[in-house]
Amino acid sequence: METALFVAWFEEAARLVRADRDRLTRLDAAIGDADHGTNLDRGLAEVLKALAESAPASEAEVLTTAGATLIRRVGGASGPLYGSLFRQMGKVLQTPVTLAGFAGAFEEGVVAVERLGKAALGDKTMVDALAPASRALALAVRDGVGVREALDQAARAAGEGSKATIPMQARKGRASYLGERSIGHEDPGAASATLIMTALANVAG
Ligand code: ADP
Ligand code: MG
Repeated sequence: METALFVAWFEEAARLVRADRDRLTRLDAAIGDADHGTNLDRGLAEVLKALAESAPASEAEVLTTAGATLIRRVGGASGPLYGSLFRQMGKVLQTPVTLAGFAGAFEEGVVAVERLGKAALGDKTMVDALAPASRALALAVRDGVGVREALDQAARAAGEGSKATIPMQARKGRASYLGERSIGHEDPGAASATLIMTALANVAG
């Protein structure tokens, strides 16, 4: 894993989110305020601009630049939450980056999201995709799985976690205001977290 791969991760994430922007916004229209697709699309475009301007010298710097940009530039709950994920990862990631080091940094990033949002597994948020992805990475490291396969497994776990939010009642964020009416819809942040993990698997091949 190297700096160019991390830049490619955000390029691919921006591409996937743009392609699915309207779907993310439709999901947010059902249980939120219909801005998640546009929020994240704009935020990731800002990340690419910031990365081009700052020419980060390390993997960690790519992550902290992306995190700071998302915190500063994205309105809505998801900006600070995704921002914390990447900023915390950047703070702890050691060079040279190994799969085990990446998995550890990702886990700490997810903990930062959980702390900031006070959300746990089952609350119908992005945590329901991010935490299973983190667990999948940890298991892949334990089992000595290769990088590509590990990231595929993480993306798959995120997707399964996101689908599992459909029958949940939201306990955090805007969707929680709907009470039982939040049941029956996929959480938009869990859906976008799946795209972000898929983006990493796509560029790691
Ligand atoms: P907003 O809800 O402010 O309009 P977005 O629409 O961009 O922000 O993002 C909504 C997503 O953010 C939700 O689908 C959920 O995944 C995530 N989210 C909202 N609140 C929390 C929270 N407290 N903890 C974790 N994730 C959250
Ligand atoms: Mg919203």
